Amino acid sequence: MKRQKQLEELHEVIRNCTLCPLHRTRTYAVPGEGPVTSQVMFVGEAPGKKEDESGKPFVGKSGEFLTELLKEIGLSRESVFITSILKSRPPRNRTPTQAEIDACRGYLEQQIEIINPQVVVLLGGVVISSLIGPWRVSDAHGRFYENGGRKYFMTYHPAAALRFPKIKSTMREDLQTLRHELV
Ligand code: SF4
Repeated sequence: MKRQKQLEELHEVIRNCTLCPLHRTRTYAVPGEGPVTSQVMFVGEAPGKKEDESGKPFVGKSGEFLTELLKEIGLSRESVFITSILKSRPPRNRTPTQAEIDACRGYLEQQIEIINPQVVVLLGGVVISSLIGPWRVSDAHGRFYENGGRKYFMTYHPAAALRFPKIKSTMREDLQTLRHELV
């Protein structure tokens, strides 16, 4: 109960955050959603148009594909926590700047600490290089990485999978690797 309250309070802070200039152009900040008891946490890059309009993470086509992938490995969307590095949408979905990532990173770190998942799944190159270091997603995908007692798993962003069929099948294979770890 204490953790649930901590998470809710943090999300309220995020919804009102003005730490970086993105608060001026967003409609709603998108803290993320899922149970505080989640064993798996998925981290995307930033909210897109639909997420900005609804305040919910991964509700567009990328979200549909992510939900499909979760089902394939026996997880319901409701059982995992889904969020992103940036909680406010960059205009025209441009790539986040380093300053924006630095301003927002603390929120994700607090979410990870409160939820304490078994695995944090990093979706895409921007997320991987922001949290782990300069590692190309084409080399890092399908691998686990441990740092500071925390286990990460790296794969592509669902939006990239929707653009390139080859990435789609690679992402499916990656998620099977994740599934074996969770058994
Ligand atoms: S992106 Fe993060 S730091 Fe910037 S305004 Fe939104 S919540 Fe605050």
